[in-house]
Amino acid sequence: MRQAGRIVAEVLEIVRKGVLPGITTLQLDDIADNEVKKRGAVASFKGYRGFPASICTSINEEVVHGIPGNRVLKEGDIISLDFGARFDGFHSDAAVTVGVGKISQTARNLIDATRGSLAAGIAAARPGGRLGDVSSQIQTYAEGRGFSVVREYVGHGIGRDLHEDPQVPNFGVPGEGPLLIKGMTLALEPMLNAGTWRTSVADDKWTVWTADKKLSAHFEHTILIGEGGSEILTRL
Ligand code: MG
Repeated sequence: MRQAGRIVAEVLEIVRKGVLPGITTLQLDDIADNEVKKRGAVASFKGYRGFPASICTSINEEVVHGIPGNRVLKEGDIISLDFGARFDGFHSDAAVTVGVGKISQTARNLIDATRGSLAAGIAAARPGGRLGDVSSQIQTYAEGRGFSVVREYVGHGIGRDLHEDPQVPNFGVPGEGPLLIKGMTLALEPMLNAGTWRTSVADDKWTVWTADKKLSAHFEHTILIGEGGSEILTRL
């Protein structure tokens, strides 16, 4: 999983650098596709329940699961890039949200709060603790900065399968939920909205939107729970 995580981090970093005004999301997907193949790994999402691409590209009010296509990125957009890779039988999964050129103050605040809520969740993941400790830290951090957390989509266990138990909600109560054990691998992935937490699904059956069409951001890391703190497997 460390190797898969390293590959995910490398590929996401290369795709992230490609986010510029004028590029299409399909071009970003091509970059990811080439880079993952070069590394002898397989894109986890491609073909997963019929998903047609290697990365999810979710722009502005799109929350997650956006399908790459001919849409051209323009200055001021924000885009979530979500990517998973399988290497030697194990998956890792991560996401980042980045701005296209100059973005609004609200967009910057939302991105910072989402990144920060992920860090808060990771810091709360300790052996002997409960999953609710992680969930509540993410929620408290996000809501304290004036944003809402998506309820219908959550993080997950990860390993030989892309999505394993337990589900990792971005909201919850400290001390509740499954016991966290050394050696567990989890994908934490807060999705924060500028307005309502409610979402709806587009006609393509994949793309998730905010119900009020306000901005949404998404960050994700795959972590390994350890005694001295969690190891982030999808960081360079
Ligand atoms: Mg995930």
